[in-house]
Amino acid sequence: MKNRNVLISGASVAGPVLAYWLHRHGFNPVIVERAPALRDGGYAVDFRGEAHLSILRRMGILAELESARTGTGSMSYVNSAGKPQAKLPADLFAGDLEILRGDLARILYDATKDHTEYLFGDSVTSLTEDADGVTVTFERAAPRRFDLVIGADGLHSNTRRLAFGPEEEFVRHLGVYCAIFTTDNHLGLDHTGHAYRTAGKLVAMYSARDNAEAKAVFYFGSPQLGLDRRDVVRQQAVLAEHFTGSGWQSDRLLHDMRYAPDFYFDSVGQVHMDAWTRGRVALVGDAAYCPSSLSGMGSGLALVGAYVLAGELAAADGDHRVAYARYQEQVRAYATGCQKMGDGVAKLMVPDSRLMASVLNRYYKVMPYLPGKNMAAKIARKAAENITLQDYPVGLPGSFTRRGTAVGQDLGLV
Ligand SMILES: Cc1cc2nc3c(=O)[nH]c(=O)nc-3n(C[C@H](O)[C@H](O)[C@H](O)COP(=O)(O)OP(=O)(O)OC[C@H]3O[C@@H](n4cnc5c(N)ncnc54)[C@H](O)[C@@H]3O)c2cc1C
Repeated sequence: MKNRNVLISGASVAGPVLAYWLHRHGFNPVIVERAPALRDGGYAVDFRGEAHLSILRRMGILAELESARTGTGSMSYVNSAGKPQAKLPADLFAGDLEILRGDLARILYDATKDHTEYLFGDSVTSLTEDADGVTVTFERAAPRRFDLVIGADGLHSNTRRLAFGPEEEFVRHLGVYCAIFTTDNHLGLDHTGHAYRTAGKLVAMYSARDNAEAKAVFYFGSPQLGLDRRDVVRQQAVLAEHFTGSGWQSDRLLHDMRYAPDFYFDSVGQVHMDAWTRGRVALVGDAAYCPSSLSGMGSGLALVGAYVLAGELAAADGDHRVAYARYQEQVRAYATGCQKMGDGVAKLMVPDSRLMASVLNRYYKVMPYLPGKNMAAKIARKAAENITLQDYPVGLPGSFTRRGTAVGQDLGLV
């Protein structure tokens, strides 16, 4: 097979899933991750429908993921005094499996660490491609040669910048920022969450890890702020400017954020690219087609994209020209459908007027009793299942035998 040595940038969801499948298909993946160690933190992510679940099952990690599921139930919208005004049952939005992103990243890391070389605390600084491969230079490690380079480094992908061009060409800001961090469950929330919404702002808290802790979540409407993504002090100051004195638990949570072990802050955006590959370089997950954190689709889409990319490389015997074209063909419509789930949600999440915020709060009161109440969950499931996965035989114990199995059928492992 050609092109066995593959560098992947990013060790969150898309990167380790890709490494897992590349190894199963006989490639040698190396992952470089900018963070000094595996990154914890982030909100709960959802997997829904058979496309997602069948890949996780084939990876042998579904049971472990299920045992780490959040088990979060309903979400209540509260007024400024904390009194519940509307209660939304979990099944209105939930997928089949909800898990904290940090737990997911750890399980994926454990499933790959024995056969993937991880370079933590480093980043690619240049990519120079020639007929036989790519010379890669790093911030810290010595230069190395790889056959292929794949960017799984998220919304603000470094690989995309180096190989395709500046972020502004591909990232569409959706007018919202979000911050998430772990805090004490000082409200004593029991597998549930509370959210408080005012014009242009939403602050929420939900219990995590069997109520032992909680996640604080902030969303606020804003044009691009041009903040340095590594400047946590400035990010926290911006959050404080927006939420100080906003009511409910805002001030308490702003105080707690200064001690949070895993403060995460980012703009909410989508990535739109005509091509996800260039020469020997390809992008996968948020780096290529981020659907936005408001879509509830980011991790599932990254999972499917990584599975297909690895499978197509194997099916083409490592020929990246053939594999990259097939990867884009297979995933393009699926990614577009998932991205649609993020369209328009920003205005619902943080409506810019008080009137609209109050109309929405009232609507949520009656929503659980309306006939079309599960519509959002149904539409999300349809988008998540809108792909027919190939089997991509791996030739190792646990390999698959059939090709082109329709979603919804469980694949028999041999
Ligand atoms: C710590 C963390 C918390 C998150 N929390 C949320 C959240 O609360 N809500 C939400 O909607 N989404 C969140 N996300 C994004 C979410 O995980 C993705 O939308 C989705 O899972 C798709 O995953 P991905 O692997 O494509 O990208 P990501 O999960 O974004 O992962 C990208 C990875 O690349 C790494 N990376 C970035 N730059 C470089 C570089 N120069 N060199 C090497 N590595 C690099 C990052 O550290 C990260 O590990 C979070 C991501 C991270 C890393």
